[in-house]
Amino acid sequence: MALRGLSADRLAQTENILKSDILTIREARIMSEPANCIFCKIVRGSIPAIKVHEDDDTLTFMDIQPASPGHALVIPKIHAANLMEIADADLSAATRAVQRVARAVRKALAPDGIRIVQTNGKAAGQTVFHYHVHIIPMQEGQKVGTHGRAPADPEELKALAARIRDALDD
Ligand code: AMP
Ligand code: ZN
Repeated sequence: MALRGLSADRLAQTENILKSDILTIREARIMSEPANCIFCKIVRGSIPAIKVHEDDDTLTFMDIQPASPGHALVIPKIHAANLMEIADADLSAATRAVQRVARAVRKALAPDGIRIVQTNGKAAGQTVFHYHVHIIPMQEGQKVGTHGRAPADPEELKALAARIRDALDD
């Protein structure tokens, strides 16, 4: 497409058309991601999740078996099994989301510390093979561990998600 010589208005119009085409392509990609991946199902909305934050490229939701209250997971919307497979742009977007949500967790829950955990491969403790980053609020003296043993009460998860969401900066 010859863009040189176009007026500023025409360029802005073309940019908007291209942006909307890119979004349509991303949506089509998301719909064609692995059918049996549980996190892809959450992205497509075919199974529920308690959402904290969403943008074009990432989704953050509460871990159903939290290691501590406020434990959230950040994922890219486009499927990638792990850190070695994820595309640069999705890694950057996910990392920015991790920082943003971690700041909100600090503001909302004031934990003593926050563990950021990311697993690659079964031997490393990975159980869901769609790249994800754990954000785990920690209290002084709390035993370090990634997984809770039991599913949390959904109402408690919803309340925590709302508190974290409210603390997200614009
Ligand atoms: P990992 O062991 O690093 O692969 O972590 C996977 C995490 O996903 C675990 O902490 C699980 O509790 C969590 N998890 C699995 N299924 C769901 C789900 N449907 N909704 C929210 N969290 C989930
Ligand atoms: Zn997936």
